[in-house]
Amino acid sequence: MKTDTIAAIATAIGPSGIGIIRISGSDAFSLISKIFKNGKNENVDLAKYDSHTLHYGYIYDKDTVIDEVLVSIMKAPKSYTTEDTVEINTHGGSFVIKRVLDTVIKTGVRPAEPGEFSKRAFLNGRMDLSEAQAVMDLISSRNEFARKNSLKNLKGSIKNKIFELREKLLHECAFIEAALDDPEHYSLDGYPDELKGKIGEVRREIQSLINGFNNGRILNEGIKCSIVGRPNVGKSSIFNFIAGEERAIVTDIPGTTRDVIETSVYYKGLSLIFTDTAGIRDTSDTVEKIGVQRSVRSLEEADLIMLVFDNSDELTDEDIEMIKVVESKEKNVIGILNKSDLSAVLTEETIKERTDIDVISVSAKEGKGFDELFEKIYGIFFKGDLTYNDEVLITNARQAGLLADAHKSLELVLNSIELGMSEDFFTRDIMDAYKALGEIVGCDIGDDLADKIFSDFCMGK
Ligand code: GDP
Repeated sequence: MKTDTIAAIATAIGPSGIGIIRISGSDAFSLISKIFKNGKNENVDLAKYDSHTLHYGYIYDKDTVIDEVLVSIMKAPKSYTTEDTVEINTHGGSFVIKRVLDTVIKTGVRPAEPGEFSKRAFLNGRMDLSEAQAVMDLISSRNEFARKNSLKNLKGSIKNKIFELREKLLHECAFIEAALDDPEHYSLDGYPDELKGKIGEVRREIQSLINGFNNGRILNEGIKCSIVGRPNVGKSSIFNFIAGEERAIVTDIPGTTRDVIETSVYYKGLSLIFTDTAGIRDTSDTVEKIGVQRSVRSLEEADLIMLVFDNSDELTDEDIEMIKVVESKEKNVIGILNKSDLSAVLTEETIKERTDIDVISVSAKEGKGFDELFEKIYGIFFKGDLTYNDEVLITNARQAGLLADAHKSLELVLNSIELGMSEDFFTRDIMDAYKALGEIVGCDIGDDLADKIFSDFCMGK
């Protein structure tokens, strides 16, 4: 298939040893040959080199040498996109690499859209959608679990599971169709009961993939912990201690944290992501109001809410109000009794009279109680040590949504069996489940959806 030739910078832009520009498409070799000269300053035809070889030389813009480079050649179909591909290793640094890219574009190569290389790899059948997604997950992985899980998915672990489930569904549909067409050779006597067992099994497998989603997402992205509490209890001080630097402004004037800021801690293979929020309270200050809105949103997105109290002060109406707000969210909550270095006015027992939230004492000033806090957070989500087993873990919301659709369709099949409906009713819903599973791996997805999914990818991938 002839495709236009696209190019993009594939490495992060900034001062660095090297940068890579990737060029893919039918004319990649001929166009880059126009601007590349070898170490002896001779024009060469890159197409004549063997695939997967590396060549020293220079990039020229007309008569001007732009950079000293190494050029690698990957011939179709043995490349990421399955197309002819050239990668130019330039010197790093944003000016040099952009200047080389400009020179490449001047030859008639089109600048690539974000994710366009992966989109081509997908459209050319080099990988399915779950593998393409895994590439992005690997790039954005923030911890050991995320790295291992995305690598596993990159090697086809989701794809294989989905194909296995689809195969089972298709087999039943084929059998029903065959029996309806040729009742003499295929009997449907007692089949609905048998089908009920088989569909039930596929449905359970889908359910366990869905169940794994929340853990998968948390393992992948980290546990989002939102630090909340009335003003002055020490939220920013706690955040700063965790972050190890003064990022949030600490003052004794209530309402000084006007925005939501984030820091993450790597603990036992997990990422704990802490957000310091503006105190959630009524305010007339406009800037602070924006902060307050954001902190309400941060509460909505949190996996865990850390509600901070001040050990050196009475429990106030504002504290009690905060307990109500937090409890209304129906999320995991830990109470933090801060300023344990000061003599106690407020005790765990007093808090316990108002709520059954577990409380941990810390001192942000002296950095005490934080190991217990991290361990407690870890224990809320995972029991024992994290193990990376062979379980297929879905970490992507789109995939989880499609699994839920498939699950629903199979429930309809089970209902139809219960109601004693005719067999052609079964096939319709089985096929709906089959299609929903297919979308996970990218079967029959429209151009618009493919464009949308790949546009979220990064530049040069
Ligand atoms: P926020 O409004 O909840 O973010 O509270 P801040 O972090 O700005 O702290 C309010 C005040 O309490 C500041 O004067 C802090 O220095 C003080 N503070 C915070 N944590 C501690 C602590 O653990 N011990 C003591 N003694 N003072 C603290």
